[in-house]
Amino acid sequence: MFFILMEQKTLLNKTFGCVRFAYNWGLNEKTKAYQTDKSKVSCFELINRITLLKKQEEFVWLNEIHSQPLQMAMRNLDNAFTNFFNKRGEFPNFKKKSNNQSFQYPQGVKLKDNQVFLPKIGWTHFYNSRECFGEIKTVTVSKTPTNKYFVSILCETTIEKPTKKPIEDKTSLGIDVGIKTFAVCSDGQVFENQKYLSKSLKNLKKEQRTLARRYKKGVKIVEQSKGYHKQRMVVAKLHEKVSNQRNDFLHKVSTKLVNQYDSIILEDLNVKSMMKNDKLSKAISDVSWTKFNAFLQYKCEWQGKNYIQIGRFVPSSKMCNHCGHINKELKLKDREWTCQECQRTNDRDFNASLNIKSFGLGTQPKIHNVSH
Ligand SMILES: [Zn+2]
Repeated sequence: MFFILMEQKTLLNKTFGCVRFAYNWGLNEKTKAYQTDKSKVSCFELINRITLLKKQEEFVWLNEIHSQPLQMAMRNLDNAFTNFFNKRGEFPNFKKKSNNQSFQYPQGVKLKDNQVFLPKIGWTHFYNSRECFGEIKTVTVSKTPTNKYFVSILCETTIEKPTKKPIEDKTSLGIDVGIKTFAVCSDGQVFENQKYLSKSLKNLKKEQRTLARRYKKGVKIVEQSKGYHKQRMVVAKLHEKVSNQRNDFLHKVSTKLVNQYDSIILEDLNVKSMMKNDKLSKAISDVSWTKFNAFLQYKCEWQGKNYIQIGRFVPSSKMCNHCGHINKELKLKDREWTCQECQRTNDRDFNASLNIKSFGLGTQPKIHNVSH
């Protein structure tokens, strides 16, 4: 986060606006070309066209900002298209003023203590949350819908990654993440979903309804009432609160587990396909398994620990971890079940976490299914 002078704020907001305009303009150019004769407009061509655009009287205001963020916007747009064509992403969307705003510098940013130099904008104080090592690469300046400014700096370092710890049974942990309980671990640790999160969500829903009531159909966002914009800020602040609470929780749990164990084993959850199921989708996005996985992964990476994912089709819930019997009758609502083969009573999630661990280590009991 950083603190800025009034003139700098104006220039920053101008940059957000110009970059958003350029991105949407480029998106339109690319889409038009594709729809007309299936042709592609290259990134180089886009940058050329925007240079020409800046010379037109109508668009002369584009010259008020540094040219690099505009070029970066074209590069990002081009990447978004490449991802779309390679089936790695959705078709790029137009950028809206009400969402997060951002622009990037590929070079020219300097750091000194708690000050950062942004080309054309100048030196400004900022709250430095983490030490930067190495050579500064891409720098992203962003503004949240609640008008907070951030600068994130990507550095390239030559620091070598720590050597990986050996994978051993006693230093490995299997984690089963779920909807009812956030995570159950093979050592018996249980992490419940955070209650305050659902409280905030309830609040958010209420405020969103108020916002919807204040929305006048057929009227542009900028021309909506004062009351509408005030409420939009209330909703944005709550969104921010929910996301902060969730991130906080996920950081605490992931840090704790990575500190305790040398190998972390999880299922490769196909979150995307489960998201299609509407009932589950809300719960899933709340607990943010994807984020949790990502946090565990990079924290393991930093500490030379092992992050292991087992296949999605492994029978982690249905198999009795004691004898390998597969309980074909197991339903999603069954929280506990007795194994027909060895008569053990299995807690659904705990048994799953044990299976995840043993599949990850390759020590699972031989799967068998004896019918009685
Ligand atoms: Zn059994």
